[in-house]
Amino acid sequence: MNRKSFYPAFSKALRRVIVSESADFVNTSAFFAYHVAFVICLLHFSPILKTINERSDGFHHNHMSENYYYTMPDTNQINNTYNNDASDNADNKKTKSPYLRLLLTCMLILTIILAIGGTAYFLHDQGIVDLPGFSAKSSEASRRSNKKTSSNGGVKALAGGPEMTLPETGDLTGTVVILDAGHGGRDTGCVFPFNNPDYNECDFTLRIAEQVKKDLTSRGATVYMTRTDNDWVSLYNRIAQTHLICMDIAKERGVLPFSEERESELRALLQQSIDINEDTVASGGMGLMVGSGVGEDLKELMEMEYELENVFFLSIHLNSNESRTLHGTQIYYVTDESIIKSERNQMRTNSEFRRSDFPIRDEYYGRPSERSEILSQYLYDCIVGEIPEFETNAHPVLDDNYAVLREHGLTGALVEVSFLSDDNDREILLQDGTNAKVAKGIGDALAYYKLQEEG
Ligand SMILES: [Zn+2]
Repeated sequence: MNRKSFYPAFSKALRRVIVSESADFVNTSAFFAYHVAFVICLLHFSPILKTINERSDGFHHNHMSENYYYTMPDTNQINNTYNNDASDNADNKKTKSPYLRLLLTCMLILTIILAIGGTAYFLHDQGIVDLPGFSAKSSEASRRSNKKTSSNGGVKALAGGPEMTLPETGDLTGTVVILDAGHGGRDTGCVFPFNNPDYNECDFTLRIAEQVKKDLTSRGATVYMTRTDNDWVSLYNRIAQTHLICMDIAKERGVLPFSEERESELRALLQQSIDINEDTVASGGMGLMVGSGVGEDLKELMEMEYELENVFFLSIHLNSNESRTLHGTQIYYVTDESIIKSERNQMRTNSEFRRSDFPIRDEYYGRPSERSEILSQYLYDCIVGEIPEFETNAHPVLDDNYAVLREHGLTGALVEVSFLSDDNDREILLQDGTNAKVAKGIGDALAYYKLQEEG
């Protein structure tokens, strides 16, 4: 790292620590404990603060001259200098005071950093100020990923969007897409208005997904849908379906890496998740996907999926933002790092992570996330290319931790088409022809991705 690149990198790292780490910390119980400790320290040791300026290093005759340059000696100090008894009595407190002063100063500095960072991030998250390089997250996104708002230091925007020229049809022959229409059944997703809803996210996502299927099929792609009506389908059911489809594709292509016995073992485990159709740990619906990190069964499936060319996973959602300040398209993908960061947090905050039937495993590294990141940027550029009003005031492309992307090995993304909570976005969503434009954007993104893979 040369001098030129060191300073920007340093300031970026510093900003990340101040803004995002403090925002993370503010959301933990450790933060609460920290404040209790801070107040106790202040109350308990505040009498000693008075003695801090009186502190002598034991050489009483130097006392005044040493302090002269730093503080004007007060009457106590002068008295101490001439009264050995008084200073001896204070010795006990005095020997503690430099450490206490250091501790209290550190705590005070930390409090100030947390206050600045937390406030800055909060304002950014609400869309009131813009902190370039930090993600603003919608409430729906935070809720769905079951974690606190966190920063997104890992995103590298691909400048400028697609530069290649797409052939007119944007042909997708040979491409397979597993399409996931978010929510459904008892899970409506986000709603609007918040109190007495007229609109449910699950209805929009299904209609958009149907339109996307139409577009992709017309370009020659093969499309599978994880849900086709408004029945409840659990997240782990969706992913189990995805693994089974991938096993079928691998088998058809002659690249299934399992023995017949192993294949039927895995199929049976996946079918269980589909049959149970629940997302809780207690239900057993997570099946071979339960726990932090990646278990052996899942690892085998994921490694098979990393090798499957031209097979993609896309989840369609709408966004929502309580303060209604955010609008436009956002695309999410996962990386090992974004998942690990979230899981570390959940170990502290999510009680499901402390259940005896929830295995805590080593952190997993191995996902080829660059592919999903590239696809995500194409998706954003192409959707906004079709509907310029969907250019977002939040962060366009983000890494995060979503089960539907985390628990399989396909290149994929979660498309938050736009904000149901934003008046303008909603008006556009309700217009005839919007779904077709979104679908064309998604189709074009896949075609661009295919082109860059070939090129
Ligand atoms: Zn959603």
